[in-house]
Amino acid sequence: MQLICDSCGRKWAMKRENWRCSCGEPLRWDSLMPFDPSAIEVSNWSLWRYKGMLKLPENAVPSSLGEGMTPLIPTPEKKSWFKLEFLNPTGSFKDRGASVLVTGMKAWEISEVAEDSSGNAGVALSAYAKAAGIRCLIFVPKDASEGKISAMKKFGAEIIFCSNRQEAAERVMDAVSSGIYYASHTWHPLYLQGTKTVAYELAEQMDWELDSNWSVFIPVGNGDLLLGIYLGFCELVASKIIKSQPKLVGVQALACAPIYAAIYNLTLPMSKTIAEGVAVVKPPRIKQIIAAIRETKGDVVAVSESAILNAVDEMAGLGLWVEPTGVTTWAAWKQLGKPPKSILLLTGAGWKTLAPSLSVERVEGN
Ligand SMILES: [Zn+2]
Repeated sequence: MQLICDSCGRKWAMKRENWRCSCGEPLRWDSLMPFDPSAIEVSNWSLWRYKGMLKLPENAVPSSLGEGMTPLIPTPEKKSWFKLEFLNPTGSFKDRGASVLVTGMKAWEISEVAEDSSGNAGVALSAYAKAAGIRCLIFVPKDASEGKISAMKKFGAEIIFCSNRQEAAERVMDAVSSGIYYASHTWHPLYLQGTKTVAYELAEQMDWELDSNWSVFIPVGNGDLLLGIYLGFCELVASKIIKSQPKLVGVQALACAPIYAAIYNLTLPMSKTIAEGVAVVKPPRIKQIIAAIRETKGDVVAVSESAILNAVDEMAGLGLWVEPTGVTTWAAWKQLGKPPKSILLLTGAGWKTLAPSLSVERVEGN
């Protein structure tokens, strides 16, 4: 058995129906894949270079659009790094999870899926599902970015608008109970097999020199990126490829910061944030996220709306157009005094988030 429920202790095999426990709680990977650098397919410049280290259904054939192997570039001070996750095929790290999940669903001969998303996960799933010939239904909050909705439509997904992110998470379950497969970036264990490759890549890009002196700043809403990276680093440590786990620093928008509130034992109101990718009021995997942050002696940082808006402009000043969710790591890093040996994940492209406040004024003559 490869999956375990922390709530009731039941163990499950990796099968198409086992995307959560029968008690209703999320599953996590119980056994680690050994990491073997000699098994890397060095001529493959996507995350599939690590195929031998991914847990996949039997006879799985990669559904790939070239995701992963995103650049690592130095910050202006040269003592820390940006990882350009917004350069994935549909403009966010979600392509990693979508590629591996669609690969699994193809192997399981699934032809119709549903997902709930604030945008990026829906865009990624729409693209990979379309390429794989899988029909796709996405439940989206009605205030999601125009660019993300346009992309989902372009990839042929059917879109159902909901009043907010929480309602999207609830309404998708009605579709799932009517028999459509739940291709969830939040719940599905295979998704984390995709996002864990960020940890593999960071280790390889840093010449296997990562350890607990380093901090990785990660936007955290549902935690599919943070938990995947945690899993990847666990495997690298267990296989003695790196000495110790880098610290995981989760970043939330102060306007919607349930993980920050839980770790610091605060009662905070939950409101709207421009960082739509982390606007998650009730993350199902919150216990796992808190445990991963604590185990790595990491932290969680909450940043204000004005700090996020400033960060968008500051990143643009560096030539990087990153969406508000994706720049929260920069805002948090600044808030902590720009500690050296930090890696800041820039998770989503700016071009998809043409919210009114960010769109261009069209004045004739300009
Ligand atoms: Zn359970």
